[in-house]
Amino acid sequence: MTETFGPSSDDVRAALAYCPNLPSLSSVAVKVVQLAREPDPDATQLAHTLSQDPALASRVLRTSNSPLYAQRRTARTLHQAISILGLNTTITVALSFALADSLRTSAQAAYVNDYVWRRSLLGAMASREIGQTIGHRDPESLFLAGLMQDIGILALQTALPERYGAITNDRPTHQTLIERERQAFGCDHAQAGAWLLAQWHLPDYLIEAVAGSHAALSPGRKEQRARLPCVVSLASTVAELFLAGDGHVDPGDVASEAGQLLDLDGAALTEALDRISEQIPSTEALFETTIVSATYAAGVVDQAREILTTRQLEMIRQMAAREQEACELEESTRQWRETAHRDRLTGLNNRWHLDQRLDGEFALARDNQWPLTVAFIDLDHFKAVNDRHGHLTGDRILAEAAKILAVRLRDGDCVARYGGEEFIVLLPGTDREHASMVMERLRSALESTRFMSDDGHPIEVTASIGLTVFEPGTREVDGPSTLVREADRALYDAKERGRNRVERFLRQSA
Ligand code: GH3
Ligand code: MG
Ligand code: MG
Repeated sequence: MTETFGPSSDDVRAALAYCPNLPSLSSVAVKVVQLAREPDPDATQLAHTLSQDPALASRVLRTSNSPLYAQRRTARTLHQAISILGLNTTITVALSFALADSLRTSAQAAYVNDYVWRRSLLGAMASREIGQTIGHRDPESLFLAGLMQDIGILALQTALPERYGAITNDRPTHQTLIERERQAFGCDHAQAGAWLLAQWHLPDYLIEAVAGSHAALSPGRKEQRARLPCVVSLASTVAELFLAGDGHVDPGDVASEAGQLLDLDGAALTEALDRISEQIPSTEALFETTIVSATYAAGVVDQAREILTTRQLEMIRQMAAREQEACELEESTRQWRETAHRDRLTGLNNRWHLDQRLDGEFALARDNQWPLTVAFIDLDHFKAVNDRHGHLTGDRILAEAAKILAVRLRDGDCVARYGGEEFIVLLPGTDREHASMVMERLRSALESTRFMSDDGHPIEVTASIGLTVFEPGTREVDGPSTLVREADRALYDAKERGRNRVERFLRQSA
């Protein structure tokens, strides 16, 4: 462990290794550490060890009777406390108190001492509560990891007092401190702390949690990160939130970090902040210290709640707005597509649609060897209708005639307004015999419909129809426009032969 964690530069490593007054463990703490490393620790031995340090023993007792472990039973002896807390939790709790003492008594610079001490306790509480939120099985071990995350600050400060003083005299934020440490020493206090914890033979999980706490936020695949350093890292930011007055830390940034590291949302974070704030007085009592005043902490949480709620609402609002925009865009695209393909007056397909459809149907017919009928329909003497009844009536009758055509065709057929009072019908798969029948039906439908003028007079409308049938294999046709030309030619014949009739295009050779 000693080799894995710790500063990479030799002078810093040497300064730490040979520093005579680094934070150290009491003899009882050393024994508790030994017990912590044992696979199967013995309760009687633990009780015996703790009883050698009456202050430590009494704090363990008080912890077991604290609201955190609120039970109907009250522990009066260490044995009872161990049975309430459980053996491993008791060891962790005892370690927390013992290491907290080392933390507290070691630092020489008052600012660093005070700052690290309060930050460590807040970080410890935050780790435990965040652990609770994500359902960690052993929140006390997280408390201990959170508590130890900044012990490296004390180690560096003790081993390199002048150089460390130079980067801390203006009370930098935690992030700035890390950057300065890396620049000055080639390592940050997470690595120095991990080194010290390894010297003390503390359990590996603790060393790893501290060592990884600053790296947790660096880019990388989320699933590759261990959870414990993520918890400690987030707890560190939460501790800053409580410590930094005047909005040093933006609760929104804390929420982003919570989401990024542990998938926690704003509501879960606010709940954890609430619990941390509530626990400050009892933690202060257990550690016989002050951290931040209860009203101040409550204010921090209230402010965070407000900001995070607004942020959450804003995110919901933005999501709703984005969804609405997407819907509107989809609808307008749909409408645009619809109008781009439709003729305004008749509601039929327009020329643009027809051109595309004709190309497609021609290719299909040629590739699949099935017939395709193309027919031109032209209303007879329609100019006279306009002249007699006016253009508006002419328009209405055009639309009515279009509907008569449309309803008489099958789904796969296509009728389009070609222009003016001319329509084109495509009948895919329809041979010449059926094509003539269909067209005759359309012609007679128009003829037999009673169109009316606005003043109630009947208007006769007939149409001339020219059709052509493409039957692949029987002849070559170089493209769809040839079919249109042929249908037009047949229409001309229909007009010539007296109108109100259907003619089929006949090739010279046919
Ligand atoms: P025929 O086809 O039988 O030879 O005679 P026609 O009078 O129908 O033919 P022509 O091509 O000379 O005139 C077409 C008329 O159709 C002219 C125009 O007034 C009318 N028309 C074309 N488009 C519209 C339209 O959108 N609305 C109205 N009301 N009339 C239209
Ligand atoms: Mg015409
Ligand atoms: Mg006409």
